[in-house]
Amino acid sequence: MPNETQTSRLRRELMVHLARGIQEGTLAERVDRLPLELRPRHPRPDPLRCCVHSERAILRYRIMALLGFGAEDETDELKPLAAYAREALARRRRDDRLLTVIDEACSACERGRHTVTDACRGCAARPCTLACPKHAIRLEYGRAVIDPAACVNCGKCRDLCAFQAIHKLSAPCERACPAGAIARGEDGKQVIDRARCVACGQCLAKCPFGAVAEVSELVDVAGALARGEALVALLAPALATQFDVSLPHLAGALREAGFQGVVEVAAGADAVARQEAAELVERLEAGEPVLTTSCCPAFTGLVRAKFPALAPRISATPTPLAVAAGLAEARFPGARRVFISPCVAKRREVLEGDGAHHVLTVEELGSLFLARGLEIAACAPVDPDLQASPAGRGFAAAGGVRAAVLAHLAGEAPASEALAGLGPDTQKALRAYASGKGPARFLEGMGCEGGCVSGPCTLADPRLAKRRLGP
Ligand code: SF4
Ligand code: SF4
Repeated sequence: MPNETQTSRLRRELMVHLARGIQEGTLAERVDRLPLELRPRHPRPDPLRCCVHSERAILRYRIMALLGFGAEDETDELKPLAAYAREALARRRRDDRLLTVIDEACSACERGRHTVTDACRGCAARPCTLACPKHAIRLEYGRAVIDPAACVNCGKCRDLCAFQAIHKLSAPCERACPAGAIARGEDGKQVIDRARCVACGQCLAKCPFGAVAEVSELVDVAGALARGEALVALLAPALATQFDVSLPHLAGALREAGFQGVVEVAAGADAVARQEAAELVERLEAGEPVLTTSCCPAFTGLVRAKFPALAPRISATPTPLAVAAGLAEARFPGARRVFISPCVAKRREVLEGDGAHHVLTVEELGSLFLARGLEIAACAPVDPDLQASPAGRGFAAAGGVRAAVLAHLAGEAPASEALAGLGPDTQKALRAYASGKGPARFLEGMGCEGGCVSGPCTLADPRLAKRRLGP
């Protein structure tokens, strides 16, 4: 598994334990023992942490997140996990928290400090010392040294160093966040500002300590399956790229796991491409300078939050998920719809809209299969109940939405651009579009570099996933 790390391995192990506990009806009975079983007192399991108790505390919060609670929701440290598990099994809808920072796991990584590396040659020109407005750089033993007490982190020294010897150390989560939504709180640990967060999931993907966790709906879905409730799976276009099996095998495994129906969200994407093409023609004819796609909530969220002048240019066409949810409701009335994807932002779309009742990540789906002893490739293949065209499936990769929309236009296509990822380059381009200086008239926006196949909760290597998607 190419995206595997020690933290993802542990998360998946916990998911399988929880899913199995739900299936066997022993979750509440076993869950409090899980941290002790996984982190026994001897032998000492992980030299990273100070003691086994710290590791067990972190496990407790990871389990809380998997049960659908934020670490911040804990008001009583003595409340047993069994009580959380019972609440989770009894609820019909969980609250709107998407991500949680596990304080105990967060190492409060270095933040915004400039430091001189071994690459410094102590050069004669020494532009760094002259550039520093606070005189914070001195030469010691032939090398530049920054006085952290005087440095104001303006970066002028870094910009001028010919050897790129000055680096800015920063917390990976803060560096990754395009919205400036995660920052150190009073106790030095990270806090997510929910009002600013665009739910791109980059903090979750980039934290090397696994300190940012998704607030999961695994229990809600596994519980509904165990109770035999009617569920229909809505498969994100990127989903089939995450397993080394055919789509019919995946649909067969979902049926064997207990889902009543399987719907490709890419079927909704096919309709979206048609509708967005018509909207593009209409709005350009009406004199609007540009139209942006609306399918990625992280992209549209960032546009609304940081480039409000561009917000009116976001397409009014509903997302593929919203369209597919309508198709699924018509086909399976009354069934609870479970959207399965590698995305955090779509979880927010679901929480804020009426497209689906629950969201599962690819990892969570994999753990459900493992808990049931289901091997996808060995399941009898069945066709999804609603299928899509290759163009609709292409929404999963950067450039795919643009291609699908433009394919519906007659005559010459307008100038178009595809932006993937929400980092500095994309934000520079968005700034230009917001001030009316963008070069294109149709703009595809994806929150993840490479598109959904590189989503924060993917299992497969993005290059492999893209190959599986086809040309
Ligand atoms: S990257 Fe992870 S461990 Fe480091 S500050 Fe951010 S949340 Fe904490
Ligand atoms: S999900 Fe994205 S926007 Fe929200 S805090 Fe994490 S990195 Fe920032």
